[in-house]
Amino acid sequence: MFRKSIYKTPAQLRAMVEPGLITAASLDAAEAAIVAGATTAAVDAAASEAIVARGAESNFKLVRGYHHTTCISVNEQVVHGIPGSRVLEPGDIVSVDSGAQFQGWNGDSARTFIVPGGAEPLLSVRAELSRVTEGSMWAGIAAMASASHIGDIGAAIQDYIEAQGPSSLSGQPYGILREYVGHGIGRKMHEAPSVFNYRTPDAGAAVKPGLVLAIEPMVTAGSEETLVEDDEWTVSTIDDSDGSHWEHSVARHEGGIWVLTAADGGAAGLAPFGVVPVPLA
Ligand code: MG
Ligand code: MG
Repeated sequence: MFRKSIYKTPAQLRAMVEPGLITAASLDAAEAAIVAGATTAAVDAAASEAIVARGAESNFKLVRGYHHTTCISVNEQVVHGIPGSRVLEPGDIVSVDSGAQFQGWNGDSARTFIVPGGAEPLLSVRAELSRVTEGSMWAGIAAMASASHIGDIGAAIQDYIEAQGPSSLSGQPYGILREYVGHGIGRKMHEAPSVFNYRTPDAGAAVKPGLVLAIEPMVTAGSEETLVEDDEWTVSTIDDSDGSHWEHSVARHEGGIWVLTAADGGAAGLAPFGVVPVPLA
């Protein structure tokens, strides 16, 4: 049986730089639009404008049945929240997931923001959740630089989160979503292989030059059990604990790794792990 290789050529990796940067620009625009009183639809519109202005299109809109540029998940929503008339409040924890397709290649990235103006101690508890989730993503990305198999990435993410112990502020241990995982990315936003955010018995595919992965831990401040809301998209925690989602699209190439959806290639996020990203030749 013919199976398309999951490994891309150097030219294909280079073609993924621009959609990655456009995806990053859409999240910059979303961040600027996140203020108390704004609707999630307004945040989505800002991300959309950034993508269209660069001659690209939203790859989320290419997903069957989905009509928005981003997913915006607020508080107990972890992923796949639908932008709409919801008004953001001070201190809300907001995960924005966006993606651009440019000249047939895709980017996919997510960041978590806290709406300015919230009250303590909730503000610090939520900021800590986002920081832990982001840190676990960078731990997974850093592992991709030296991993032999994809399973090493999930192990690094789980180890990072477990090393945090319970939240220093709420006393609650963090949960990692099991049912939603990262993925390969290229001509399509979602490609093989799956990238688990936890240890698995199977080592998974080999990590070698040409591999591009969307690494995206989804972490909660409580139970890792989730449900899908009546809108048939939004994934929320069953115990109403807060969620956070961070994601980058990352290329492994002959020279090392490069974070396609970060303007600096991931230099700042990888520095604590002693990994220096290498631009695509
Ligand atoms: Mg995404
Ligand atoms: Mg993704």
